Amino acid sequence: MNWFEQKILGLFVKTRGRLSKPILAGKGLIFMLHRVLPENEREQYTLNRDLAISPDKLEEYILFFKQQDYDFISLDELSNWLDGKIKLHKKFVCLTFDDGYRDNLIHGLPILKKHQVPATIYVTNCLPNGIGLLWWYYFEEFANKANRLILDSSIGKVEFCWKNLNDAFSQFQQVSEAIKSIPSKELHQVLKSSFQLTNEEIEKQCREISLTWDEIKLLSTEPLITIGAHTMNHVCVKQQNDQLVREEILNSKIEIESKIGQTVNHFAYPFGGTFDVDSQAFEIVKRVGYKTATLNQPGNIFKSNMHSKFALARMPLGNRIDDERMNYYLNGIYHFSVNGFTKNLY
Ligand SMILES: [Zn+2]
Repeated sequence: MNWFEQKILGLFVKTRGRLSKPILAGKGLIFMLHRVLPENEREQYTLNRDLAISPDKLEEYILFFKQQDYDFISLDELSNWLDGKIKLHKKFVCLTFDDGYRDNLIHGLPILKKHQVPATIYVTNCLPNGIGLLWWYYFEEFANKANRLILDSSIGKVEFCWKNLNDAFSQFQQVSEAIKSIPSKELHQVLKSSFQLTNEEIEKQCREISLTWDEIKLLSTEPLITIGAHTMNHVCVKQQNDQLVREEILNSKIEIESKIGQTVNHFAYPFGGTFDVDSQAFEIVKRVGYKTATLNQPGNIFKSNMHSKFALARMPLGNRIDDERMNYYLNGIYHFSVNGFTKNLY
């Protein structure tokens, strides 16, 4: 952020969003969530704690937005609004849940049904297929019992060492970057040997944490739930070759459709930061036939996003979003602090 933008941000904050709101609040927000876990289960995690929202907090946010006169809409409605097919009379909120965790069904769905709130669950196929490695969870476990991690793939060998848990967790971002760059065809094998896992352990973890195909099918019959895709193997699409990216994006859609008997129209880029995607991936997502695709890049949603339906911003939502941060979300200050005046992120 340059000097001029700093000054503007200061002005937006000082005027409590009165100046930013008309320009940058947009029409609504898409929220990105992952898991829904009761507080005592969330607390079992350190590194991954904020990957889960507690059911109480989820309900609190839903009531808050209803009180603020926001409508909860589905991604289909959002897509239709961006295409000019429908009008939205109020500001909106879309809820999206990434990866496909079983707790979405157990703890999330009852709350969504109670308040008649639609949501999208982006499924990563390798999880219901029992071969997915939720390595962010393995890393948290592994850091407890080992003091180094070696990632050895065809692009080279990387080694991470740590003295204690904090030291390990402080390297999570670098570990994540190194894993993103592993070719998707090798990913399973490399992670399996890095974390010293057997196929049975991998399958067991998938079964414990992720939705099964039967549960995904069941969720797809819920009128409030939209099933979306999130690649076959949770890969960073920018770091893979074009053929692999196409396979990851297309095959996940085809497989989910065959399992649930419905068209899959929405996609979320794994990792999804602006550095994790590129125009090639947007082109593939569009050609494959998705209606929207979402990023993991904070921002508000504007009518002009009809030109960037395959790169829609999402705000993170979790237990630790305080009132001030939420106000910044709603009045466009947060959008400005990340994106400046840019509304279409690509
Ligand atoms: Zn994900």
